[in-house]
Amino acid sequence: MKIFDAHSHIYQKNDILTLKNILKENHDYRLVISATDENSWLDIKNIATDNKNIFPQFGIHPWFVESRPPLWDIKLKNILKENERFSIGESGLDKTNKYKSSFDIQKKVFIKQLCMAKKMNRPITIHAVKCWGELVEIIKKQEKIRGIIHSFSGSLEIANELIKAGLLLSFSISILNNISPKTVNLIKEIPINNIVIESDYITSKKATSILDTLPNKMELLIEQIALIKNMELSTVERILFNNCSELMG
Ligand SMILES: [Zn+2]
Repeated sequence: MKIFDAHSHIYQKNDILTLKNILKENHDYRLVISATDENSWLDIKNIATDNKNIFPQFGIHPWFVESRPPLWDIKLKNILKENERFSIGESGLDKTNKYKSSFDIQKKVFIKQLCMAKKMNRPITIHAVKCWGELVEIIKKQEKIRGIIHSFSGSLEIANELIKAGLLLSFSISILNNISPKTVNLIKEIPINNIVIESDYITSKKATSILDTLPNKMELLIEQIALIKNMELSTVERILFNNCSELMG
């Protein structure tokens, strides 16, 4: 099966080896690995540079804007210049304020990353929680943006605004646990050409069992989308893979 995992946080070489070992022979598994802060930039560079199936992203996550290093934007731009396959992520806005980052600073850091992505013509991955109005307002001020809203959970109206701006909407394997009528309706209504899928896998010493089942769960998610959209599995598989491929290049 061809799977393009649009969002993960795999930071260890061991995880990549484990993933390789559990893939079946006929699997073509590509993945985007997103950073969250400066510490993860180096980890990602170490595992991603010589692997053509990995699409590395560098950025500042809204949870960690307060601890961004001085001159973070210049540092980020310099990393992006090193390799044309490098893109921006994870950036965005989060009003749950779990990590107590000021929303004003979040906005400033996010807009800077958005502008950098546009200027350098790189895709951007956006995290958005409880701030759809603010996100749409910011996005509308930009012309065509190339990127992904990861783990999309907004309304259909918001989805349409984001798609109009040029963004893809990503659904995570976490929806499989207990798929809500709202998610079913979103998947039904959002055009298949605007959907990508993700594991949102996060490197953790305890999480190896999750990694073991990851390709399987991604397959189940593709099956679920095919079922909801009443489309051939192979067609859905091909389109979802191509959507992410075209964006990441
Ligand atoms: Zn993430």
